[in-house]
Amino acid sequence: MKTVQALNLIAGEWREASSGAWGISINPSNGEVLGRYADSSQVDGEAALEAARAAFERPEWSRDPRRRQMVMLRWADRLDTRKTELAHLLTLDNGKVLAQSLGEITSAISEIRYYAGLTRYMPGHVFEVEPGVFSSILKEPAGVAGIIVPWNAPVVLLVRSMAPALAAGCTVVVKPAPQTALITAALIEALHDCESLPAGVVNLVSEAGHDVAALLAQSSQVDVISFTGSNETGQRIMAAAAPSMKKLSLELGGKSSCLVFDDADVDRVAPAIAAAATVISGQQCTAARRVLVHGSCYARMKQALSAALLALPVGPGLERGAMIGPLIDEQAARCVAAQIDAAMEQAQEVLVRGGRAGGVLQGGAFVRPALVAHQDTSAAFIQEEVFGPLLVIERFEDEAEAVARANHSEFGLAASVWTHDGARGLRIARALKNGTVWINDHNKLFAEAETGGYKKSGLGRLHGYDALIDFQETKHIYQNVGLLSQI
Ligand code: NAD
Repeated sequence: MKTVQALNLIAGEWREASSGAWGISINPSNGEVLGRYADSSQVDGEAALEAARAAFERPEWSRDPRRRQMVMLRWADRLDTRKTELAHLLTLDNGKVLAQSLGEITSAISEIRYYAGLTRYMPGHVFEVEPGVFSSILKEPAGVAGIIVPWNAPVVLLVRSMAPALAAGCTVVVKPAPQTALITAALIEALHDCESLPAGVVNLVSEAGHDVAALLAQSSQVDVISFTGSNETGQRIMAAAAPSMKKLSLELGGKSSCLVFDDADVDRVAPAIAAAATVISGQQCTAARRVLVHGSCYARMKQALSAALLALPVGPGLERGAMIGPLIDEQAARCVAAQIDAAMEQAQEVLVRGGRAGGVLQGGAFVRPALVAHQDTSAAFIQEEVFGPLLVIERFEDEAEAVARANHSEFGLAASVWTHDGARGLRIARALKNGTVWINDHNKLFAEAETGGYKKSGLGRLHGYDALIDFQETKHIYQNVGLLSQI
């Protein structure tokens, strides 16, 4: 196939890295070279920051919500017309199955339209604090936003940060994950092509290493960092950002529990949880990781969940019928397979033996899902985020035990509760220390609903109206206008 090339976008121009270096993109389904991307250095990052700063200081973008809306709507329309082609590229770049790629692009388009609408609804408020003395509270764009995204859902996670940033009036420098630099450049190209987008508002700098990301985190030219990725990197970014005291939005790791009560329909719930655990081959921050089941249906659930996991076909993302594609790359496949092997070694019971796939799949980064049963919540494979298809089943006897088990985690991203008892669903949802709790579903994430983490799962919220907060400052303007009688 024809290889694809991703350049940097700086000050409205597509450019190679200043060093002329390239990184190589690999198709994780078969290890073949897919294309190349500019492998940039801090020099390129600095040029992008200069462009973003200059664009922010001019009024055409930061002070013109109607223009911002128009550009964003055009961007969404352009992506819509290229949806199938982009989904294909996403599957080649990331490995996920085509239906999931299409779903991701569709929700990203919907999210751009949501924030395009909000550009024209950023109200402040005014009040008379004393006779003749007015206070106006205004929302202002925060400035230049540095957006650092991971590879697992590179389209929707880019849009989830970038759309509210642009809607608020910020200018941006995007640093994609090296593994998915190609699809990121294709998305930004569709935006760059929109007339009325001033040069420098949107900049893209890709790299094989982390120098540009580190520059964004520490530079005083960046006002906001919106980072999605691992806790380890999130902590590094937080430390690097501290001297400049910039605003930080951190969307980090998770270890989601699904709490299944005695009145749940096991035959319906098991396939839903199996799908929630293996979406993007288990490489989703909110993927189902722990299944906590009431004692009365524990044995049935073990059987049904095992059967549901074994029924999911593993194969290349473009192959008809495949439900689980490869992991992102060979290194991830090796690391996750080793974590699954260790869990199968240490767990009380192995229900589905997963791990590295062989045979016709051995040329790609494929890992088959695994299910183990274990009661001790302090086990490393219950506490640590394994970013792949490993599922652990645990047994509980009452609501208090279910909640205590689920809350025994340093993460607090998402969880689900499965019960037909509405009062119990809400009671448990309130008791769980998670940013999102689904009742009788899992992984429902969309533009209108704020998402983010409790505890070590992050800071701030993306999606929804509150995402704008990460990209805005609040200004108080005080004005003593006096009273007619005093003039
Ligand atoms: P990662 O932290 O390794 O990388 C994320 C981004 O940071 C990439 O662009 C990467 O190039 C960059 N990066 C990596 N090391 C860096 C460093 N030392 N300095 C600066 N930047 C650096 O994460 P990943 O492996 O790409 O993604 C998986 C993680 O992301 C998982 O932990 C997952 O739970 C998390 N995640 C969270 C959410 C959420 O909404 N909370 C969504 C998706 C993924």
